[in-house]
Amino acid sequence: MGNFDFAQFQLETEKRFVLPATAEADVPQLLVELDALQSAAETLIAKHPDGDRSLLACAPGCQSCCVVNVSITLLEGISILRFLQQLNSADLERIVSRLDNLWRAVRGLDDEERLMLRRKCAFLDDQGCCIIYPVRPLFCRSISSTDVELCRAAVTEQVFGETQPVMMHQFQLQLYKTLFLGVAEGLNRAGLDGRSFQLCGLVRYLLSHPDKSEELLRTSSLSWSEIYP
Ligand code: SF4
Repeated sequence: MGNFDFAQFQLETEKRFVLPATAEADVPQLLVELDALQSAAETLIAKHPDGDRSLLACAPGCQSCCVVNVSITLLEGISILRFLQQLNSADLERIVSRLDNLWRAVRGLDDEERLMLRRKCAFLDDQGCCIIYPVRPLFCRSISSTDVELCRAAVTEQVFGETQPVMMHQFQLQLYKTLFLGVAEGLNRAGLDGRSFQLCGLVRYLLSHPDKSEELLRTSSLSWSEIYP
């Protein structure tokens, strides 16, 4: 990891979201900030001396790790919502149906129970690629592996209570974790909703209440009981 200052990176991320006391949260601008932070993270990873990314086995069509609980902030959820709203109605209906089915199966499950189900993410297409790749969650961006088989084995063995170490790009993992914390805390400091939600449940809810999304970010009023049904 060299001597990269993750604490400073988190503080700088938080500051990107803090508003002057009199300003109203400008959601489109917050989405631009999120996008810029993700691009900056990619540049930092590409330039970092530790870890050769050409050794990573992650590639389009590999969906080995897309069976876990994914946590996202409401701002990431709004970014995904905007992306999905540009799809044609047939594709969007298919995704809504997959989200409904998956949510009925995973709502209320903890991380281990979710993994036990081995149910694939609702955003995988028929080729095993991520439909929302350009706006995929920070959590998903943090994960990598040098060995597909080891990755699959690790998921299986975790189900049986064993652990299999998987070599990951550690700087990438730590940087995106820090970015997630910085975004969440930055939103909190700006008086916005910085809580995390389950990807499937939140996006499903936002798709059925698209006009409420910005208000929810400003008021932090979204409750578990609204997402659950
Ligand atoms: S959002 Fe994309 S990368 Fe993340 S778990 Fe779902 S399919 Fe995989």
